[in-house]
Amino acid sequence: MPSDCLFCRIVAGDLPSAQIYADDSVVAIRDISPQAPTHILLLSREHIASVRDLGPADHDLMGKIFAVGAELARREGIADDGYRLVVNVGGHGGQTVDHLHVHMLGGRRMTWPPG
Ligand code: 5GP
Ligand code: ZN
Repeated sequence: MPSDCLFCRIVAGDLPSAQIYADDSVVAIRDISPQAPTHILLLSREHIASVRDLGPADHDLMGKIFAVGAELARREGIADDGYRLVVNVGGHGGQTVDHLHVHMLGGRRMTWPPG
């Protein structure tokens, strides 16, 4: 675990977070700066820097992250209205924390194209 990684420290419990789900491979927390009424971050428990670093061994993990996102959207009561799952990758993608995470945003109508 990289000791300087913010999300590794959150996953380890060294830093506080509003955690709403955890299993052996995925941890979900509320974003500290929500961009929608519901803004959840789906983190890999393992340190993977970004989608760029995924390999064949991570296919099940990504499926799991999306399935957990769908389940949490149901629990949050936003599944029927719809929501958005977003992954920012690298500089041009707008990634600011280099630890794999998927944003789940909902509770309002999203616009397209994204900024
Ligand atoms: P990215 O920009 O890498 O796609 O997403 C990083 C997200 O992490 C941002 O939405 C940001 O608000 C969130 N974030 C940054 N620091 C913290 C923190 O300490 N706690 C939580 N819960 N979210 C954070
Ligand atoms: Zn990490």
